[in-house]
Amino acid sequence: MRVELITIGDELLLGFTIDTNSAFLGRELAGLGIEIHRRTTVGDDRAAIAQAVREALDRADGVITTGGLGPTSDDVTMEAVAAALGVELERNEAIVARLEEIWRSRGRSEKLPPANLSQAMLPRGAIILPNNHGTAPGAFVERADKRWVAVLPGVPREMREMFNGSVRDVLAARAPGGTVVRSLAVRTTGIPESRLPALLAELADGVDGMSLAYLPSVEGVDLRLTARGSRPAAADERLRAAARKLSARLEPYAYAEGTTDLAEVVLEACRRAGRRLAVAESCTGGMLGQRLTAIAGSSEVFAGGVIAYDNEVKIELLGVDREQLERHGAVSEEVVTAMATGAKRRFGVDVGVAVTGIAGPGGGSADKPVGTVWIAVATADEIVARQLRLFGDRDEVRRRAAQAALDLVRRSSAGNLGT
Ligand code: AMP
Ligand code: MG
Repeated sequence: MRVELITIGDELLLGFTIDTNSAFLGRELAGLGIEIHRRTTVGDDRAAIAQAVREALDRADGVITTGGLGPTSDDVTMEAVAAALGVELERNEAIVARLEEIWRSRGRSEKLPPANLSQAMLPRGAIILPNNHGTAPGAFVERADKRWVAVLPGVPREMREMFNGSVRDVLAARAPGGTVVRSLAVRTTGIPESRLPALLAELADGVDGMSLAYLPSVEGVDLRLTARGSRPAAADERLRAAARKLSARLEPYAYAEGTTDLAEVVLEACRRAGRRLAVAESCTGGMLGQRLTAIAGSSEVFAGGVIAYDNEVKIELLGVDREQLERHGAVSEEVVTAMATGAKRRFGVDVGVAVTGIAGPGGGSADKPVGTVWIAVATADEIVARQLRLFGDRDEVRRRAAQAALDLVRRSSAGNLGT
């Protein structure tokens, strides 16, 4: 089944909004074994939308649109789709009733404004796609020749919910053959992309007939396996087996499968070991705390942290020795070690983690250039410190430092410090 996507909105063309709906739908449809042949983006213009839908329907079995369903005059998608299909818009009384109910439940005493009633106008013969997170319903319209258009909202959460709630099953039932395209990533950190092929040897170009893509980012390299031509359960099983093979080759750099964040892996390792964690952050200014607290349930393991940016804070709150600071500088093994130990003591926890470094663009010197970062982990058994030479702009250096610090905790809890 050939499907085309049309995303609608002036903000997409102008670059103010990143088209995440296309990315989501691309992944989800591939997972159903449906190929997206083309993506088009058009502005909030009735004629442009109608033309895009008409052209897409000439080529494809189905068209999905997102955006342009709001109550304002720039939301014209329903009208345009109706025009492209050559059908009238019809007022749907069930939707009018629901809009009035939402309006009342929001404590409005006055009547529903006429502008909102535009959201109750659907192409004749359309199936309503309910919107549980917003007011604008979507629509699924089929032509006599079985070609169809699914009209979804632009707000990503509403769009995802509508896709999962009512579009996915309709499309899965129409997909021929039942084979799917599915992916699974093995996540690595602490090793550059260029060194991976040597570690992977004969697995470097693919595993058991599945293709392998290398996706580098500031946090590390994800190795994404893609399985084609299998039914869903078999594809998942092939992917899991291949991921296990890859992970074994990538010791100690592989830390998770799928989309799991390293912070989650660290929290889980601490939870299993019955250890609690605190952080002392200079150059990362709270990024470690942010990463850890973004994970639900982190309070069981994560106690808190100090953003020890100014030297006086390192001294007062973490007990770093003033003389050490003056002699070795804030970016040094002595100071990072004292920060990690200080956080551990101050919060009364089992593991203290510290970061101090020069994120740039200023502040570097010949022996400590921008990107020089020290990280440390202090536990009851050991204190480990590492010097890093990171590259990139200020944001990248800080993100790389936070990731490396989390990885040092992971590897120290696994007793796997190596290099
Ligand atoms: P609309 O349904 O066109 O009124 O869109 C509502 C909001 O959803 C817009 O203001 C955008 O912020 C967001 N949005 C629309 N289209 C997309 C898209 N393709 N990807 C991500 N966000 C979008
Ligand atoms: Mg819009």
